[in-house]
Amino acid sequence: MKTCDDYDQTSLSVEQALERITQNLHPVHGEEQLAIRSALGRILAQDVFSQINVPPHDNSAMDGYAVRGADLPLQGQVQLTMIGTSLAGKPCSETIQSGQCARIFTGAVIAKGTDTVIMQEHVEQSGDIITIKTGHKNGQHVRPLGEDIKIGQTVLKAGKQLIPADIGLLSSVGISEVKVFRRLRVAFFSTGDELCPVGEVLQAGQIYDSNRYTLHGMLTRLGVDIIDMGVVRDTPEETEEAFLSAAENNDVIITSGGVSVGDADYVTDTLRRIGEINFWKVAMKPGKPLTFGKIQNSTFFGLPGNPVSAMVTFYQFVLPALRQMMGQNKVTPLRMTVPCLSALKKRAGRLEFQRGILETNEQGDLVVKSFGKQGSGILTSMSQANCFIILPKDCDKVVAGSEVLVEPFAGLI
Ligand code: AMP
Ligand code: MG
Repeated sequence: MKTCDDYDQTSLSVEQALERITQNLHPVHGEEQLAIRSALGRILAQDVFSQINVPPHDNSAMDGYAVRGADLPLQGQVQLTMIGTSLAGKPCSETIQSGQCARIFTGAVIAKGTDTVIMQEHVEQSGDIITIKTGHKNGQHVRPLGEDIKIGQTVLKAGKQLIPADIGLLSSVGISEVKVFRRLRVAFFSTGDELCPVGEVLQAGQIYDSNRYTLHGMLTRLGVDIIDMGVVRDTPEETEEAFLSAAENNDVIITSGGVSVGDADYVTDTLRRIGEINFWKVAMKPGKPLTFGKIQNSTFFGLPGNPVSAMVTFYQFVLPALRQMMGQNKVTPLRMTVPCLSALKKRAGRLEFQRGILETNEQGDLVVKSFGKQGSGILTSMSQANCFIILPKDCDKVVAGSEVLVEPFAGLI
């Protein structure tokens, strides 16, 4: 059945809304120099080059014996005399001549004159005499100088969010400090006369405020500076006052609730009066009322009040927007197509982000099933499901067994 809702001409598609956001945002100005350990999770503001080769010298990948490849037997066996030892951090001082070899350990510099390592399990040793049979390859078990990184090579590019491997990589080339973009300042608050903060006793008609807590979690994981402005009551005066105070010193303002067209919904009107609205409706479910705009120099996102809608719109729109403002290179969402075990209800006209459970079946293949209850107030769905099932605008149902697009929560923050 079609309803007026399905073909609302004033709604943008999800793609159009994302495009509008991308076009209207810029990375923040401002960088800081940080010790690499403190830079974890931050966005690199410079390309980083290596001044050294890694590894800085040819070294052994095994514990064994360093030999000259030319000495390896083509048939039968050969006996070499061990004349020195190369330990990690303590290279062998001798130069190995034909007929000789050196004891060598993993990570030790390849002894001068040698180019090949024979694993200790593959030799017979009797005093200083080492017997080697056939079956070895010239040059084997040697990690060549610069194998990982060459002098002058770009090891990390500006715009990358630094992960633990990057911090290790920077240290492997001897870099102790890097330039990163400054942190974004994000202020957020909930709107609603019915909201009670945790720690207080619920009065008649009240519900606990959950959006401010989910937002706190998502923003903390993203690594921005967060300013929690509490709950703002449903009056035009309080809403305006909160907007102006949030705009004073923050890059981004995020609110939840008050973006529908009810009598007590002041967010969009206030934004229209004291700021600029770019769009306020997106053809999606959940999360149709989503306001994007500006107040003075702050970017504004008015998320819907329903707890699932607030999270979905955060992940799909606010997260990429904040990343762009943080100076991060575009992150392609992790999405894949898998068979859906459940039949899904859906009306054409809006793109839906249903909650699903992605798992492996007995054959070891990935499959998804519906979490079940899909209401925008069912916050348990965001806690117990592990992925979005993304159903395109035109789709009007999913028959059990058909392929659907999923986005695992594991790729989100
Ligand atoms: P609204 O967009 O303000 O009309 O809110 C839509 C629904 O979300 C209503 O049922 C609200 O009670 C609920 N809601 C709004 N804000 C919050 C919040 N911060 N935490 C939990 N539920 C909320
Ligand atoms: Mg409200």
